[in-house]
Amino acid sequence: TSFGFKQVHEEEKARLVGDVFTSVAANYDTMNDLMSAGLHRLWKERLVSMLNPFLGMKHLDVAGGTGDVAFRILDNINKVKQSGIRNRFQDGLEEETQIYVCDINPNMLNVGKQRATEKGYGEDGSLVWVEGNAESLSFQNDSMDGYTIAFGIRNVTHIEKVLSEAHRYDLYSFSVIPRVGELVAGDRESYQYLVESIRRFPPQEKFASMIADAGFQKVEYENLVGGVVAIHSGLKI
Ligand code: SAM
Repeated sequence: TSFGFKQVHEEEKARLVGDVFTSVAANYDTMNDLMSAGLHRLWKERLVSMLNPFLGMKHLDVAGGTGDVAFRILDNINKVKQSGIRNRFQDGLEEETQIYVCDINPNMLNVGKQRATEKGYGEDGSLVWVEGNAESLSFQNDSMDGYTIAFGIRNVTHIEKVLSEAHRYDLYSFSVIPRVGELVAGDRESYQYLVESIRRFPPQEKFASMIADAGFQKVEYENLVGGVVAIHSGLKI
């Protein structure tokens, strides 16, 4: 039946995603640099500056992989801390910053934990590593100030489920969506799957309307490098 076919297709997709990221976990960061000529760093910087993180923030970075976005958020908060700008912490709430890095693949998270130690964030209780599926997460409703998913949403099976999960938590959400150009040093099947997943991902306007349909307001997007990559954002008000 077509249902049977769909089922197989979805299991296959989940398996391929697993295989792709397991085989690349150790070299993932180097690969990112090579493939985007280092540009992913600028894109992530832009994402974090739009997010405008603050001391005491509770943030969920889904498909967080090796922690690249989470480290930047923490770096940014530490910079603000040093600059003495007022924030929730100083206003007496005294809440601890918590950045949750959530990924479906434990190998990516392990590489991330290692990197955290190398960066001096190993003992920092602000980073929390969580294995989980973007389509069905275990955090409480309204427990986060922010949510990001960077270069991750095209890998999921049901975009709508991910967006409705995102809407459960946060005041604002951001995602970086690459439109083209991901190469993976994996087997041909995995590679073809990734190329296909980028080609099939909805265009910017359509994705923006899906974010709005999930309940977010003030949905906007910014194209980078002429739309090769876009940052979508929305607010839960
Ligand atoms: N956000 C990181 C970055 O920008 O460097 C990693 C991006 S990497 C291209 C995609 C990540 O999404 C992988 O680490 C993969 O394991 C994860 N992933 C794929 N499907 C997922 C799902 N359903 N739930 C959570 N993470 C998922």
